[in-house]
Amino acid sequence: MSDCLFCKILAGEIPSSKVYEDEKVVGFKDIQPQAKEHYLFIHREHTANVNEISENSPEQLADIFQGISKFTKSNELEKNGFRVVTNLGPHGCQTVFHTHFHVLGGEQLRGFGS
Ligand code: AMP
Ligand code: ZN
Repeated sequence: MSDCLFCKILAGEIPSSKVYEDEKVVGFKDIQPQAKEHYLFIHREHTANVNEISENSPEQLADIFQGISKFTKSNELEKNGFRVVTNLGPHGCQTVFHTHFHVLGGEQLRGFGS
């Protein structure tokens, strides 16, 4: 999608710090990290949010999570643990409308009850 920030990152029109790449999925550093390590994983095919990808292209969800799995096995993230988050719409504070999964870790995160 031509006016989508993450499609522009995929096209190389906006710079990013890539940490993972395969033929379907790209992972890159979040520009405003909310944890010591904060990455965003996206599919090369544009969808707007987790419900759209789930309804229209569920296989792309598997592609993204396989990318996350390969990436987190290749470093300390799987060993020490990490969190995956996705936001949808205003209450979720979604700001970029290209489906993305935040991968947070590199330090002890707070639990939801603490
Ligand atoms: P969300 O609020 O779930 O839509 O998340 C969008 C995320 O994209 C935020 O965490 C931003 O910090 C991040 N972000 C925005 N612009 C860029 C960029 N140019 N490169 C990397 N991350 C970005
Ligand atoms: Zn896009």
